[in-house]
Amino acid sequence: MIKITLPDGSIKEFAKNSTPIDVAKSISEGLARNVISASFNNVTVESTTELGEDGSLILYTWNTDEGKKAFWHSSAHVLAQAILSLYPEAKLTIGPAIENGFYYDVDFGDTSISESNFKQLEDKMIEFARQKFEFKIRSVSKADALSYYKEQNNEFKVELIENLIDGDITFCDHADFTDLCRGGHIPNTGIIKAVKIMSVAGAYWRGDEKNKQLTRVYGISFPKQKELTEYLALIEEAKKRDHRKLGKELELFTFSQKVGQGLPLWLPKGAALRERLENFLKKAQKKAGYEMVITPHIGQKELYVTSGHYAKYGEDSFQPIRTPKEDEEFLLKPMNCPHHCEIYNAKPYSYKELPKRFAEFGTVYRYEQSGELHGLTRVRGFTQDDAHIFCTPDQLDAEFKSVIDLVLYVFGSLGFENFSTQVSVRDPENPDKYIGDVENWEKAEQAIINAAEDKGLDYVIVEGEAAFYGPKLDFMVKDALGRQWQLGTIQVDYNLPERFDLSYKGSDNQLHRPVMIHRAPFGSMERFVALLLEHSGGNFPLWLTPEQVILLPISEKYENYTKKVLISLENSEIRALVDDRNEKTGRKIRDAELSKIPYMIIIGEKEEQENLISVRRHGEGDLGTFTIEEFASLINKEIESTLVQF
Ligand SMILES: [Zn+2]
Ligand SMILES: [Zn+2]
Repeated sequence: MIKITLPDGSIKEFAKNSTPIDVAKSISEGLARNVISASFNNVTVESTTELGEDGSLILYTWNTDEGKKAFWHSSAHVLAQAILSLYPEAKLTIGPAIENGFYYDVDFGDTSISESNFKQLEDKMIEFARQKFEFKIRSVSKADALSYYKEQNNEFKVELIENLIDGDITFCDHADFTDLCRGGHIPNTGIIKAVKIMSVAGAYWRGDEKNKQLTRVYGISFPKQKELTEYLALIEEAKKRDHRKLGKELELFTFSQKVGQGLPLWLPKGAALRERLENFLKKAQKKAGYEMVITPHIGQKELYVTSGHYAKYGEDSFQPIRTPKEDEEFLLKPMNCPHHCEIYNAKPYSYKELPKRFAEFGTVYRYEQSGELHGLTRVRGFTQDDAHIFCTPDQLDAEFKSVIDLVLYVFGSLGFENFSTQVSVRDPENPDKYIGDVENWEKAEQAIINAAEDKGLDYVIVEGEAAFYGPKLDFMVKDALGRQWQLGTIQVDYNLPERFDLSYKGSDNQLHRPVMIHRAPFGSMERFVALLLEHSGGNFPLWLTPEQVILLPISEKYENYTKKVLISLENSEIRALVDDRNEKTGRKIRDAELSKIPYMIIIGEKEEQENLISVRRHGEGDLGTFTIEEFASLINKEIESTLVQF
C-alpha cells in the first residue's frame, strides 16, 4: 500500500501503482470524469501514471491553470499530428502551451501557410481528437531518440536531443504520432471538442534571428464548443476596446513618427482627463500626509551609478547626454527614486519628524525595443504617480495600511472591483541573496501581511519573489473582459537608504537608517489610462469623462436658449458642449451615443417656452424633462455616489 496526501492535508491509503484517476474515483465519480492532469510530489504526471510510492498528489481539472496547460499542451500534439498528416514534409520543432492556447513552430519548407489553410487544420485536429487516442509517455535512450529524428531529417529535434541527458529523455505517443516530450497530458484526445487556429507568424529557431525562420502556428482548444464561441466573442470585444483604437476615436492621445516611437502625445481632451486623474490622486495624497516635490528630467550619470540604476538601465537604455564640458554626462532619468533620496538628504531629520512622504508625477524614460512598444502600455517616456515614504522600521505597519487605503480608494472610484494581491517575500533557502538585516526583513514582511490581513485583501504569499532589496505587495486588477493587469506596487527598500547614506536621529540620539517605501497606485499615467479605456470601453466614470453633457438644439432658432443652458451648466462646473451642426436631431443623438458622452440635452420650442431641458442618458434613453438646477444636482449626486469616501 502507498500513502497519498491530498491538498486538504488528508492522507489515504491506496494499492501500490494506483493512478491519479483511481485516487479521484475514491473521492467521487464526478471528479474522476473531470480530472485531466495531476502533479505528484511537485512533478507533473499523467492522470494515468502509476504511483509507486508515498507522496502528495494534486488533481487538476479544466478549471485550473495546470489543467488548461495540460489540455493545451496535449492539443499542441494533436496540431502537430494534423500538420504532419497534411504536410508530410514539414519539420516539427517546439510546441508549448501558452497563456491562451498553444503554438507549434514548424519548418514548412517551401510551403507557406495562411488563413485559408486554417479550416483544414482544424477539421483534421477534430477528426483525430474524436478517435480518443490515449497519450502514453515512454523513456527512450539518447541514441534511439537521435536516430528516430535523424531518420526523419529533423535537425531541430536532433539539436534539442543533443542537449538532453541520456536517461532523461521521454517520447509521447498517441495514435501513430510520436513527439519528444516531458509529459503532462490529458487522458485522451477525446475531450478536445473545439479547436481554432488563431494565426500564423514568423519565428526564428530558438528566438535567434541568425537562425532559420520558422512558421509559428497559434491555436486554442476547449472541452466545449460553447467555450470556444465565448472566447472568440471576448476577442472581438477586446478588439473594440483596444485602447489604441479608442484613444484615437475619443481624441485622447496620438503618436508621431517625427517625435519618435513610444513617445505619446497627449491631445487636449486626453491631457485634461489626465489632469483630472492627477488632481484626484493629489487631493487624496494631501489628506494622507504626502508632500509634493518636483525634480528635473535628467540627472548626472553619477547619481544613477550611486543608485545602481545605471547598472540596470545604462547600457540598454538611452545613452548619456553630453555637454560641451569634456567629462560631464547626464542621463534621462529612468526612475525618480534617486532624486527623492537627495531631497530627503537636503536636511537632517529626527525620528519625530518621520515619516516623510514625497510625491511627484515624475516622468521617466526607458528605452524599449521597438518591437516591444505597444500603445500606451509599453512606451519610452511615461509619468509615474510616484511617491517615496521614508519612515522608521516601527512605522512600516501603519504606512503600509495607509498606502493600501489609498490604492483601494483609487480602485473603488474608478470601477475596479475585481483584483487580487500578491505578497512577495524572501526565498527561505537563499537568505544570502538579500541585503539588510534579518530582523528588519521579518518586520517588513510581517507588516505587509498584517496590513493585507487587516484590510481584508485577497492575497497570496509567494516565497522567493521579493527583490533583493525588500519585500513587496503587488495589485493585480481584472478588467471587464477578465484580463489580468499588473497595477500598483508597494515596495519596501533597504538598499537605496544605504546607497544614499540616508539617516535620522533616533530617540537614543544615534543615527539610524530610515526604511524607504516606493509606491504608485496607478503605476503610470499612460498604462493606467490604457487600462481604464479597455476596462470601460471608453465609458469613463462621470467625474472623469472628457465631456459630461452635449446640448442638441433641434434648430438654430434655439441658439440663445442653448447658450443660456450652456452657461448655467458651466457655472455649476459641468463640462458641456453644443452640437450646432445643421443635422437632423436623430443623427445628432446617434453621433452623441457614439462619442460616449454620458448625457444628451435636447432643446426645442417646448423646452424654451417652459424654461426646461429634455435629458437622455447614453445607452439608456429618455429620462424626461428637468429644470437646469435639477439636472445639475442630478449630475453632482451621480459623481458623489461613484467617488468612494477617502
Ligand atoms: Zn507532450
Ligand atoms: Zn521609487
